Amino acid sequence: MSDNEHNDPAAVGIRSKEADSPDNDSNGGSPTIDGISIMLANTLSMGPSTSATREKVIADLTPKGLADHWRKNGFKKIITMVGAGISTSAGIPDFRSPGSGLYDNLAKYKLPYPAAIFELSYFKRKPAPFFALAKELYPGSFKPTAAHYFIRLLHEKGLLVRHYTQNIDTLDRLAGVPEDKLVEAHGSFHTNHCIRCKKEYDMAWMKEEIFADRVPKCTSCMKIVKPDIVFFGEDLPEKFHKSLDVDFKECDLLIIMGTSLEVHPFAALAQYPGPRCVRLLINRDAVGRLKYTTWMDEQNGDSLLYNRPTNTRDVAYLGDCDAGVLELAKNLGWEEELQELMSTELKLLDKPNAVVKQKSKKDKAAASTSSTH
Ligand SMILES: [Zn+2]
Repeated sequence: MSDNEHNDPAAVGIRSKEADSPDNDSNGGSPTIDGISIMLANTLSMGPSTSATREKVIADLTPKGLADHWRKNGFKKIITMVGAGISTSAGIPDFRSPGSGLYDNLAKYKLPYPAAIFELSYFKRKPAPFFALAKELYPGSFKPTAAHYFIRLLHEKGLLVRHYTQNIDTLDRLAGVPEDKLVEAHGSFHTNHCIRCKKEYDMAWMKEEIFADRVPKCTSCMKIVKPDIVFFGEDLPEKFHKSLDVDFKECDLLIIMGTSLEVHPFAALAQYPGPRCVRLLINRDAVGRLKYTTWMDEQNGDSLLYNRPTNTRDVAYLGDCDAGVLELAKNLGWEEELQELMSTELKLLDKPNAVVKQKSKKDKAAASTSSTH
């Protein structure tokens, strides 16, 4: 409480949107003038005077400093937002990266560009590439990573407000992030619908079609049946919009992992938390900064400002997601707990019936046949 009141940016004249208007002088004092001078200082990167005006949310804006602050003061309302980078160590290739096995596998389909595989208009004309991709990525062949289990651990500790994932690999579910905490922003393979008559098909039916290398056709109208994955040109699930209206108000830590922060509207989640919410980026590349991300508005403090003099609350760990969470867990004294959770859960997934209930006898037979040559 005291910390928040003391450091309230409004008290030192930093107002973002509403105070940016030159006409707005109804607040008493001169917040507008202050706001403008700070904005100018920020823009010109006039380091020392600016950082003196805007107090840091945590004293040391490094991963270690964040962990120290966490141990002493705690974060209570944590939101996680993740992309493909948290699943690459599970063996799921990032299809956007040229040169990845998956991208090369898709070469035979002569996609006009990789993203076409998730475009509805292209899919309607040429569904085969998507189903080839779906076969490769189909849930059940991969296991969650340390990064997934770190999120599960946050839930176990009662700290997780919501987990937003761009991934369609269902590893978040498999790691035990419960349904009510999970927002699969780009949909999942759990349900499937005919693109014309909307008839619903279950996962087992779809899996059989996909693994038989057939384009799944509706039994009623013979149109294509599509997994409920969000394609470009489709709306995100209602849950995404509903959740973000409520989640970010109280969020005190946003953990961003394994995402380029370039796919919209998902990327904009990074802009939702208030100015006192600490944002931790764990990612191989230095994403989210103005230099790389033109859509973010630095003047309103929305872009990630790590390694910049105006930074008050952004922390970056630039490296693999698993290494990042393991280091964080170690610094928090959670290392053993995380390792134990992982080994227990992964053992459960190794039990024949546990990995995917929907795995049919036919698949097992197919697997044993294919392993003979
Ligand atoms: Zn139909």
